Amino acid sequence: MKRVLILCLLVVVGVFSVAPVAADDAITITTSQFTGNFRKNLLFQVEAQSRADITQVELLVQFDGNAGNFRGSAKFDVSKQVRAVYDWNLEQRYLPPGVSGQFWWEIVDSAGNQKISAKQPFRIEDNRVKWQTLTEPRFALYWSGGSAEFGKAIFERAVRAMDALQKDTGVTIEHQLQIFLYDKRTDFLGALEPVVNNWVGGRAYTEYGITLINVSAADLDYGLVATPHELTHLIVHRKLGDLGTVGLPRWFDEGLAMYYEFVPPALEPEYERLLKRAIQDDTLIPLRVLSGNFATDARQATLSYAQSFSVVDFIYRRYGKDKMTQILLEFQQGNGGDAVFRKVLGVDTDGLEAAWRQDIGAKPRAQVTRSAGAPTPFPTFGLSTDPTLTPAPRVAGAATPVPTRAPRASGNPISQFCGSVFGVIALGVLGSVLYRRRAVVG
Ligand SMILES: [Zn+2]
Repeated sequence: MKRVLILCLLVVVGVFSVAPVAADDAITITTSQFTGNFRKNLLFQVEAQSRADITQVELLVQFDGNAGNFRGSAKFDVSKQVRAVYDWNLEQRYLPPGVSGQFWWEIVDSAGNQKISAKQPFRIEDNRVKWQTLTEPRFALYWSGGSAEFGKAIFERAVRAMDALQKDTGVTIEHQLQIFLYDKRTDFLGALEPVVNNWVGGRAYTEYGITLINVSAADLDYGLVATPHELTHLIVHRKLGDLGTVGLPRWFDEGLAMYYEFVPPALEPEYERLLKRAIQDDTLIPLRVLSGNFATDARQATLSYAQSFSVVDFIYRRYGKDKMTQILLEFQQGNGGDAVFRKVLGVDTDGLEAAWRQDIGAKPRAQVTRSAGAPTPFPTFGLSTDPTLTPAPRVAGAATPVPTRAPRASGNPISQFCGSVFGVIALGVLGSVLYRRRAVVG
């Protein structure tokens, strides 16, 4: 069932409740409250009393769709009656909008009594902008600025992509995925963590199944393509987990995302044109090079995406959907591209490339990039002459971010990349970056 919700502009979003207390409990909790103030802070507050001094108040948080709990000590003055606060600073410990979960308290007094409160739900809302929403059990779309029809068109395209991906690969979606489309660039940038470069056009927090994208309400065409593309990334990356994502070749990741932009799959004319020309001129980019970072040069990036689509399309046509399912399962185990393709398809990356080149009418590749069996080299391929095209910065505990989503076709001079950005916070974030040259700020 789909439903439309228009979220109202409340400054304070929270869940307020009084925890149930047993009459004979030594420690009594009178109030427990969550106040979201995105993207400044989250305030968790509790009031409690006991016959002895309360000496310890700890907040516990569990995020939906995540294993493991967060635990932190609240601030308060030791007394028989306390008001304790845990101030979750989002500048320092960022969480994206849409994150939800449960929180509870562990309170200890000087007599050794302990009280564990009931769990309460919370959700982080970005109430700086007004949202419209369409949801179904697997996916929720939020958009700001556009009409109801704008969101409906994008939502339906995304759901169709999700249906096709699930039908083809059998991948399941256990936790509802959320995509937020920000109409205004300032609102979008203001929603991201402080370390993100201001040229970023989109960001995925795979750990939470959430992606934020800057999609102008005036650019439905972009929203129609970017949303299913990013949703595919979210589904695939959540399916594979951190382990499975490590060995995932970039071309495979982007090829799948490209493949489900349209149902049935289609390559936009500009991509098609570049691919045909590269076949004719024998200037296809070696598949091993596309296993890592894509070029930041717009033309080479477009060709990278076109080839990625083409190889994924070839795998489906030549080997079938069951093999694609098997490939995903193998990546999930943490295996690298060559091992996965050899096991499932009977060829390594070079063998797959040779078969693909033959299928699309390209000449056999003259030069072998490396001997089979060696570890996949980190590509140093990069043709950018534009300093603003630098991928997102390395962040704490992060892998190298990668530009991905391609320049878009239809004569629109858009350089739009999405790439992976790992580990923004200790909780682990894996993300995509969408970039559009015309949207560059500063
Ligand atoms: Zn992508």
